Amino acid sequence: MALELRASCEQCGTTLAAEGEAYICIHECTYCPSCTTALGGVCRNCGGELVRRPRPPEPLTS
Ligand SMILES: [Zn+2]
Ligand SMILES: [Zn+2]
Repeated sequence: MALELRASCEQCGTTLAAEGEAYICIHECTYCPSCTTALGGVCRNCGGELVRRPRPPEPLTS
């Protein structure tokens, strides 16, 4: 099972590309970079620290 990546920011709803820059908390609430900055790096839902989301692994099929 691959980790399911949310495709939009929790705060502003902007679309987040899987390979683009995004930030997540421990509960996988997902934010865009500008909202992460606006929130001071803290999740508005759970108060967890937001960290840079790692890039997903390269897909095996093209
Ligand atoms: Zn946002
Ligand atoms: Zn959270």
